[in-house]
Amino acid sequence: MKDFMRSNKELKNIIRETAEIAGYLWQRGWAERNASNISVNIADIFQEEISDYSAFPFHTLPLSYPKLSGKYFLVTGTGKRMRDLARKPMKNSLILQLNGDASGYWIISQNIGDAENFLPTSELPTHLGIHQMIAERGSNEKVVMHTHAHELVTLTHAKEFCDQENLNKVLWSMHPETVIFVPKGVGFVPYLLPGSNEIAAETLKALQNHDVALWEKHGVFAIGRSVAETFDVIDILAKSANIFFMCRSANILPDSFSEAQLAELRKLAENF
Ligand SMILES: [Zn+2]
Repeated sequence: MKDFMRSNKELKNIIRETAEIAGYLWQRGWAERNASNISVNIADIFQEEISDYSAFPFHTLPLSYPKLSGKYFLVTGTGKRMRDLARKPMKNSLILQLNGDASGYWIISQNIGDAENFLPTSELPTHLGIHQMIAERGSNEKVVMHTHAHELVTLTHAKEFCDQENLNKVLWSMHPETVIFVPKGVGFVPYLLPGSNEIAAETLKALQNHDVALWEKHGVFAIGRSVAETFDVIDILAKSANIFFMCRSANILPDSFSEAQLAELRKLAENF
């Protein structure tokens, strides 16, 4: 760990929280092999005066993200496992800084030529696209998280739930806290090739009005103010999906909330 990481208490806390949540992603069975990736915009808590960038590896991006010019991010590494990140966060994630026109980045947690150098997640362009959208609208989400929440993925194997309205209806009708803590519901993204420009564009569209985009037959992309809060939202949605499947496997037809009950819960949600 570099000195600037050791001396920044807030950064150390974010790294610790990211490691804790990475462990939960693994325990939940959402992070098989090297699945899942996380990025955190740390620009508010981390301003490092760097006079000479020549020691750091530099990489060019396929697109530029002008709203993120000069910003710093904590990003999980490509090919890295969440279960390893939980134990050794800075051996499995890195800190990068975008350059002036945001068309590339330095990995400032590594030095050129270090034996253990690695790249950020291959989903970095999607993460940066989402952070750019957040910066453009001026909202305060700092975290982007992708994981294979299989309870939610399972729902998308049924055609009836590949419909945003039906999907949210079933999720909200299983547990009151889903209505209270996920009032915007889920944005549904029909199946598209992972890593493609098309899926990145559809994800951005879904996250304009929701905190979670559910990719058909794949996983979720979620945004939040902290790593823990982002995990919580996915966890609550997965709880709803689990209750639905438990009802179905017990041959119980779930008895949804009435419209009046839902309206009452939505009113309660406004106070959170
Ligand atoms: Zn994935």
